[in-house]
Amino acid sequence: MSASNESGSVDERPVVWFDIDNTLYSASSRISHAMGERIHDPLDFDRQCDGSLPLEDMIKYDPAQRKLFEDIDRSKVRVWGLTNAYRPHAERVLRILKLDDLIDGLVYCDYQVKNFSCKPEPEFYQDAMKKAKLSDPSKCYFIDDNRGNIDGARAQGWARCVHFCEQGLEAMEGGRTKQIDNERAPGAKVDDEVKIVTTLEELRGVWPEIFKA
Ligand SMILES: [Mg+2]
Repeated sequence: MSASNESGSVDERPVVWFDIDNTLYSASSRISHAMGERIHDPLDFDRQCDGSLPLEDMIKYDPAQRKLFEDIDRSKVRVWGLTNAYRPHAERVLRILKLDDLIDGLVYCDYQVKNFSCKPEPEFYQDAMKKAKLSDPSKCYFIDDNRGNIDGARAQGWARCVHFCEQGLEAMEGGRTKQIDNERAPGAKVDDEVKIVTTLEELRGVWPEIFKA
């Protein structure tokens, strides 16, 4: 992984942003539960999670998933990770899934920075675009299992958003177990542009233009 096009000031190739946790692997792994049990002090988050979770036993490399990433046409788009996790955890997940060489860049939460930003805060998406040297939000593709994160991206004008929604499974968020659903924040306006998928394979049909012919 490396930041692409470090030398140039802009790179207007679209970016496909992938959330990592509970998106690149199923919530059925229950990693979020295991994380939730261990987080008491946010500053200890990475040491506690990355150092002690047996991720290798909880998620498995899936050749079909790797193929999906290989089939994305890199002459048309770039592929980045966009995660609220800290970098070592995100990189470890990508290594286990054997996707690390297929991700062009990674935007993560920096827990060492006071008042760090994260999804769904506007600055996080804006900083992500700066890091990718992309100025046009209509060139952003984005998939995330958290509908609030999708709404945050849509508010920034990210055009091609997909909600990865494993309806019926449970995930843990903010220390609470929650049934995965497509529930929106109260008062959120209808957004028919957001597609819903239950497997990443469905992206071939939702975003056919990013895949090799
Ligand atoms: Mg997630």
